[in-house]
Amino acid sequence: MTVSILWFRRDLRIHDNAALQWVCDNSTQVIPIYIHSLQEEKPWQPGAASRWWLHNSLLALEKKLADHGLRLKYFCGESETVISKIIEETNASSLVYNRLYEPHLHKRDLSIEKKLQKIIEVLPFENSLFFAPGSILNNQQLPYRVFTPFYKKIRPLLTPGHVEHDSASLASGLKSLKDVAVSSAQSLISLNLLDEPNWHEKLHSHWRPGEDHAFELLDAFIDDAISHYDVERDIPSIEATSRLSPYLHFGEITAQQICHSIWPLLEGQRDSKTAQSAEVFLKQLVWREFAHNVLWHFPETATEPMDKRYKKSFWRSSKRDYHAWTKGETGIPIIDAGMKQLWETGWMHNRVRMIVSSFLTKNLGLNWLQGANWFWDTLVDADLANNSLGWQWVAGCGVDAAPYYRVFNPNTQTKRFDSNFIYINTWLPEHNELDYPQPMIDLASSRDQALDRYKQNISS
Ligand SMILES: Cc1cc2nc3c(=O)[nH]c(=O)nc-3n(C[C@H](O)[C@H](O)[C@H](O)COP(=O)(O)OP(=O)(O)OC[C@H]3O[C@@H](n4cnc5c(N)ncnc54)[C@H](O)[C@@H]3O)c2cc1C
Repeated sequence: MTVSILWFRRDLRIHDNAALQWVCDNSTQVIPIYIHSLQEEKPWQPGAASRWWLHNSLLALEKKLADHGLRLKYFCGESETVISKIIEETNASSLVYNRLYEPHLHKRDLSIEKKLQKIIEVLPFENSLFFAPGSILNNQQLPYRVFTPFYKKIRPLLTPGHVEHDSASLASGLKSLKDVAVSSAQSLISLNLLDEPNWHEKLHSHWRPGEDHAFELLDAFIDDAISHYDVERDIPSIEATSRLSPYLHFGEITAQQICHSIWPLLEGQRDSKTAQSAEVFLKQLVWREFAHNVLWHFPETATEPMDKRYKKSFWRSSKRDYHAWTKGETGIPIIDAGMKQLWETGWMHNRVRMIVSSFLTKNLGLNWLQGANWFWDTLVDADLANNSLGWQWVAGCGVDAAPYYRVFNPNTQTKRFDSNFIYINTWLPEHNELDYPQPMIDLASSRDQALDRYKQNISS
């Protein structure tokens, strides 16, 4: 009899899960576990919105496993200690999991692997990106710092893949496994992921975490929106994008599963227009891959600018300005609408993310890290790699960053992408009222000042 500990982390799904598949193929008994270890996640413990998502995603996974007679067991504390105790109690012979790539978590995993492999078989799988980070290098065997050549290298390597879609065979694999009890297992509620009830309750009306809902969204996206994704993805009032980002972050769906599902469209099965549009969508998944590679090679970029000229002293400091930005009280409708959408739903449209981050870092001159921290706490899709890359790109201090003189003018952006104020009216109906506050800052002069600051910084 082989007993495996199946350690779920950010792979909260049963389909296309390499670790779980290995357990089905090689074990007779299983201990599915989730360990909540805030200490080990430091300094990037999940924010309030992510914790809400995590709680509900674990609940969905728990139900799925229960349908197959398996019980997801929760623990709090130091991972190595928790796992060692489980091994002692159950005589488990293997520890199986899918790798995480954030530098601090990867380091933690390597240390656990080194210690525990003396007493148990430790089997990590690569399953959350198209390719293991670090394996895609340029001709000089160096990491890519620019997206387009990275994309050109990776695109021909992508395939529809052999994604397990046969639920019947997975179900029979899961049914053949016997669940092993662990005396110290806790309840999901004891992890205390939901500590701000007044704020997170409203998220239920916008999201349904869990693998099944990820596929419902993907199917709906493929049925319709993907055909005009290339032209509509920048219009924040239209539901033209997939909204799969939190599901991808928590591993409720994989990039490979998405690629598999859209492959027929990429090959022109619907029409050439859809093929072209699906290609633009696939490119976004490669941006995600790029962001994870950047963080892998340059782990310091989660807190430090890639371009060292943008040190702390470059940025202004103003609690008042930062507060107005976080609360959506800048007096600039598109910015305030975006910040309200974030607060109400835990998500913000990509175009608006670019506008609000440009305003914070360029017009207000505040440090990109302040904005990244706010996003970290309030986004349901907060992702260290994507968030750091996004912020540094806009602030002009990251890899392949927007040139310093690219300052998104919120009014021009509104004219281009929300000309009928549909997005603004949705999130900020009060913007038409006479007493709506005036802009907190003059856009033209703050832009000029930003350009001067950047120019000076570059030439010094
Ligand atoms: C300042 C800033 C901060 C951001 N922070 C995050 C974050 O914390 N988490 C996050 O997932 N994305 C982040 N993004 C990227 C992007 O805004 C979101 O991925 C996207 O809006 C999610 O919506 P969607 O799933 O409908 O995207 P779609 O357009 O449907 O794209 C599909 C998937 O591709 C990936 N993707 C799309 N755009 C990007 C991008 N620019 N960089 C990396 N991956 C991308 C995402 O996984 C997304 O779910 C940030 C962008 C900016 C400008």
